[in-house]
Amino acid sequence: MTSRSVDEHARRVRALLAPALAHRTELVAVTAALGRVLAGDVHSPLDLPPFRNSQMDGFAVAAASVRTAPVTMPVAETVAAGDAGPAHLPPGTAVRIMTGAPVPDGADAVVPVEDTESTTDEVTVRVARGAGEYVRDRGSDVHAGDLLLAAGARLTARHLSMFAAVGLVEVPVLRRPRVAVITTGAELVEAGRALEPGQIYDSNGIALSASLEANGAEVSSVDRSTDDVDLFREILHRATASADLVITSGGVSMGEFEVVREVLTPLGGWFGHVAMQPGGPQGLAEVDGVPVLNFPGNPVSTLVSFEVFARPELRRAAGLVPIEVERLPLEVPLTSVPGKRQFLRGRRLAGSVTLESGPGSHLVAALARADVLIDVPEDVTAMEPGDDVRVWPL
Ligand code: AMP
Ligand code: MG
Repeated sequence: MTSRSVDEHARRVRALLAPALAHRTELVAVTAALGRVLAGDVHSPLDLPPFRNSQMDGFAVAAASVRTAPVTMPVAETVAAGDAGPAHLPPGTAVRIMTGAPVPDGADAVVPVEDTESTTDEVTVRVARGAGEYVRDRGSDVHAGDLLLAAGARLTARHLSMFAAVGLVEVPVLRRPRVAVITTGAELVEAGRALEPGQIYDSNGIALSASLEANGAEVSSVDRSTDDVDLFREILHRATASADLVITSGGVSMGEFEVVREVLTPLGGWFGHVAMQPGGPQGLAEVDGVPVLNFPGNPVSTLVSFEVFARPELRRAAGLVPIEVERLPLEVPLTSVPGKRQFLRGRRLAGSVTLESGPGSHLVAALARADVLIDVPEDVTAMEPGDDVRVWPL
């Protein structure tokens, strides 16, 4: 069985995945664009606000006529938000105006209602106001043609609000990599069914699909196969038909019923050992022109394999910021197997990192409590409290 370092396998994964997941652009509705990554600069098609309007409920006046207060003047009419409004304010009068209503020509200030007393026909302005007060000018937020947002931004509610405010219907975004998930194992059943002797619940299906979505991918299908080669082959070919990448779990090690290895080896897949723990047995193949990443089935191995090999490539393809590896001092001592890069489950404390339970790759509850992977280099066999370790956020 061939053997590789983590870096070597990661390079091979990248070489296969990068062209298959290369950036592609699509238009999506602004209403469906939350969390997507903008693929091109977006400019404003109009001025915002699109017309001069009132910032307060009150009275639109010529500032010159309220330079001294109190002053009483006739109220010409009332203009509400949504009204086209009077074209012009007769000199020496006021217009009763609501927030968001157009300010007529000739008016250049709004006196808030709380600074006035009024009847139907007359208003007394008690506080003097200067030109421009409580008036929102056309284009005071953005002008037509202004850059609203540069390519590369991950769209939030605030961005979508801005796009909607300028009337955009669609925006260009990066297409998300489409990834199919296949879990394998005769022992697997889905949650909600009673376990028969020898069976366990399939946790890798949801683990992988949730990890994919959290890292900018779109899950094109999630299937479960037994260890039957014909069934797995059929599911695999169906998956490649609508995916940019397929990820499988289980069936890659040295046992008797290694369905993934048995089906993919004759198709030119590589199966071997990567010098890491967990996640030693790995596979990498191309089927129907689609890359296939084969992770071992232990739930911790599957997720660690995802973080180490798939996550960086998917985030790059999706235009998301890379995961930042940090260095933190260890809180506790640790030991590690020589010749293998260990990815131990850890938990971040204030300014340091501690171990979360043991190294067993079946310990899913411990993994759930962890929030980082502690990356112990191949040649290191023991570390002391205070030693710096590389820490990957989960
Ligand atoms: P394998 O890599 O197929 O030899 O599986 C290694 C271990 O992981 C076995 O104990 C399997 O029962 C377990 N396992 C495999 N696939 C899954 C899965 N989808 N969910 C939970 N455990 C699994
Ligand atoms: Mg298996």
